[in-house]
Amino acid sequence: MGRLALSSALDPYAHVLLDLDGCLWLGDRPTARAVQAVAALREAGKKLMFCTNDPQRSAEDFVRKLWRLGFQASVDEIASVGGAVQHGLAQRRDGGSAFVIGAQSLVDHVAAAGLRVVNNTEFATRADVVVVSNHDGFDFRELRIATQAILRGAELVGTSRDATYPMPDGPWPGSGAVLAAVEAAAERPADWMAGKPEPAFYTAALERLGPGRALGVGDRLDSDVAGAHGAGMDAALVLTGSSTRAQAAAADPPPRHVAESLADLVLRADA
Ligand SMILES: [Mg+2]
Repeated sequence: MGRLALSSALDPYAHVLLDLDGCLWLGDRPTARAVQAVAALREAGKKLMFCTNDPQRSAEDFVRKLWRLGFQASVDEIASVGGAVQHGLAQRRDGGSAFVIGAQSLVDHVAAAGLRVVNNTEFATRADVVVVSNHDGFDFRELRIATQAILRGAELVGTSRDATYPMPDGPWPGSGAVLAAVEAAAERPADWMAGKPEPAFYTAALERLGPGRALGVGDRLDSDVAGAHGAGMDAALVLTGSSTRAQAAAADPPPRHVAESLADLVLRADA
């Protein structure tokens, strides 16, 4: 194998925003030749931002996983939904208390925004803010507390509306599924969302990358492609995750690129 040659489809772009689940990997398995694809992007001088709606890991956790699976990455290249939640909540003038449906790393982000986390206290149903995401321990008790807090007037924040995320054994329920349960019980929609496709998520990522044309790559039309388009970027859909080629063709506007995988998008066919 010689030098990793980049597809000319990447020529117009200085920056590439890469989704993780369903794009770089499925669970603990990199998608085919994704490691080579990311290495080729670096070799060609593209600046990268790893953009994820996975609320269950910190930026440091993502960096560790990337290296473990063979990718190079640094913390300043991670744009996570947990970071977006923290940034959004930090705008609150008077902090307040929060009940969090989510993994410890999301709880840490909420606390870092200056809110008092009242999970596992008698004040949970009186929280000022309820933050909702998927996590492995989601249960009825959390749904009940969130419902009662929101019906008492708490602000409702969702990480994303991703219905599922792809895993090796099939789709797993995403934050959108948990949020739908909370919204159904509270009989109202979330006040704001933190992750893709929200424009604020992309604004923050693009500010960190600096000037230059950017391409957004991911496996979900409603998050990755819609988000990139909303931020004025070109989008590429990869078919290693949630959305299909037929869904891409029906999208309005459709993504500029549709590829079987990240490697098929990025690497020149003869490389
Ligand atoms: Mg994805």
